[in-house]
Amino acid sequence: DLTLLKQHSACAWEIPAQGKMRVPAMIYASRELVRAMDHKVYEQAVNVAMLPGIVGASHVMPDAHWGYGFPIGGVAAFDADAGGVVSAGGVGFDVSCGVRCLHTGLRREHIMAVQRELAEALFERIPAGVGSTGAIRLNSAQMDAMLSGGAKWAVERGWGSNADLERVEEHGQMLHAKPKFVSEQAKKRQREEMGTLGSGNHYLEVQEVTAVFDAAIASAYGLHQGDIVLMIHCGSRGLGHQIGTEFLRKMVEAAPGYGIILPDRELACAPIRSDLGQEYLGAMRAAINCALANRQILTQLVRDVFAKLLPSAQLPVLYDVSHNTCKLETHKVDGQPRELYVHRKGATRAWGPGHPELPQALRASGQPVLIGGSMGTGSYVLAGTKASESLAFSSACHGAGRAMSRHQALKTWNGRTVVDELAQRGILIRSPSMRGVAEEAPDAYKDVNAVVDAADAAGLARKVARLEPLVCIKG
Ligand code: 5GP
Ligand code: MN
Ligand code: MN
Repeated sequence: DLTLLKQHSACAWEIPAQGKMRVPAMIYASRELVRAMDHKVYEQAVNVAMLPGIVGASHVMPDAHWGYGFPIGGVAAFDADAGGVVSAGGVGFDVSCGVRCLHTGLRREHIMAVQRELAEALFERIPAGVGSTGAIRLNSAQMDAMLSGGAKWAVERGWGSNADLERVEEHGQMLHAKPKFVSEQAKKRQREEMGTLGSGNHYLEVQEVTAVFDAAIASAYGLHQGDIVLMIHCGSRGLGHQIGTEFLRKMVEAAPGYGIILPDRELACAPIRSDLGQEYLGAMRAAINCALANRQILTQLVRDVFAKLLPSAQLPVLYDVSHNTCKLETHKVDGQPRELYVHRKGATRAWGPGHPELPQALRASGQPVLIGGSMGTGSYVLAGTKASESLAFSSACHGAGRAMSRHQALKTWNGRTVVDELAQRGILIRSPSMRGVAEEAPDAYKDVNAVVDAADAAGLARKVARLEPLVCIKG
């Protein structure tokens, strides 16, 4: 019911604090997107606003949909000094799921000349699907080194170069990871899964830049109309899921002992200043490193494929950014800098221009924000803005967001038909699972154009370029 919302601007709506809410909830979306949003999203955003130590507001991105406890597309920041909490459900199960974008230096005609061979070669080289395993086996010491070292570890082991690391969040290594808080079961699940894509929504896509909206920023990013880029979307595989599952259970059990009354048991959390909170943060940071290492290894596999098939290609990293994390960051609140634990679940960090973490070449433009759409429509590159710092702790959307449940999609589409129809439009899909393809049919997602327009209009991020798929390897 839109009348319950206080409208701030065309794409910003407030649910004023009421009842047990400690802060308001803010929804960034157009009227149409707000109307179409799953009702559960509002309930969940309101519930998050009730958690101890929350600062500012509970934020909802334009691609939001229902999630476990916190909405997917939710952002919430907590102050440890004010009794703030950390929540496994506020990060998500696929810890540090994210997107890495590679340049190729190629144009459309180069790809079209070998499109089918490229699709086959990528599909053969990149392990994809449920429980897919890679060629890498880590013993226990190597596992711990990976969990502490992230993409930096991968580069030291020969997957990629130091130049890659500058273009990865945290310079490729999440500090203060604590592999000792990652269970044996989680490590066991990951032993054979390094360098694999995973299933479902994870993908590796060859895309063409089909529109440029901000020529100056696009140029600083090295993107031009007709350029070919490659996107890798995946996360921390079995390890992240195991950590999420285990800590969620522990947090549900421990919450009453901490005197935390949960509006919904799925919001299970622990005080940042508690043993459990610290153990989760240590394990979650290790999972971030796992995801960063995984995307780094996949990058190298992709480079191998291109070296054989398109040897003139160069594949430097444009940027690598995660969208399921909790990070300690400094943000200005009422003019004062504060150290906050920012949860972004299905939301992308989006540093504005000038942020010191950004590499020199990108700093004046703001951080690249990498947005998936669907395998049949389009994807986007946006840029972080100054405005987003005060709107949503420098955050933006992470995709189009699901419009339909997997179950519903499965009833609506046949995977083989989806693949054939896309092939007729010049988009080659390769996937081990036709069921997965049906679940991920392009129309199961919201209109990515509308979502990105809303993010831009709200000021969360600025539109830079639109991308369209040519080849998609689907998990
Ligand atoms: P999530 O991280 O929530 O699993 O997915 C992020 C976003 O990726 C989704 O909201 C959706 O818009 C997008 N997406 C899912 N599958 C594909 C795909 O095959 N290709 C592209 N380009 N985007 C996708
Ligand atoms: Mn994921
Ligand atoms: Mn993801």
